[in-house]
Amino acid sequence: MPYDNDNIFARILRGELPCNKVYEDEHVLAFHDINPLAPLHILVIPKGAYANTDSFAHDAPPAQQAALMRAIGVIAREQGLADNGYRVIINQGDHGGQEVPHLHAHILGGEKLAAMLVPR
Ligand code: 5GP
Repeated sequence: MPYDNDNIFARILRGELPCNKVYEDEHVLAFHDINPLAPLHILVIPKGAYANTDSFAHDAPPAQQAALMRAIGVIAREQGLADNGYRVIINQGDHGGQEVPHLHAHILGGEKLAAMLVPR
């Protein structure tokens, strides 16, 4: 699947749509989710045309791959989540429930979260 240059997060990266920014560096932008599922729900996205973890893991420069992980830790500390904990989720593709086709990590926290998945 080719990268869709008109997906919502690509448009946010280009400044065509607004976001409530919490962090930005050379490689990464992070902003509040428009429909929060926890008291704090932040999305962290790489600056680059990566639809999902598959393309990011195979095609992104190592410095950008590292920056995404580093940003998650930095943001969590800045937002006061590090001590009590939080959850990081990346949905990938159809089975993973991914809706926006630009790689994004969800940071969820601010309260004790429910179980990740319902037991089978
Ligand atoms: P996914 O299901 O793809 O892992 O997550 C997509 C996330 O993007 C959802 O949590 C949804 O609420 C969020 N979202 C969708 N459109 C927008 C938007 O225009 N702005 C922001 N900040 N979040 C969005």
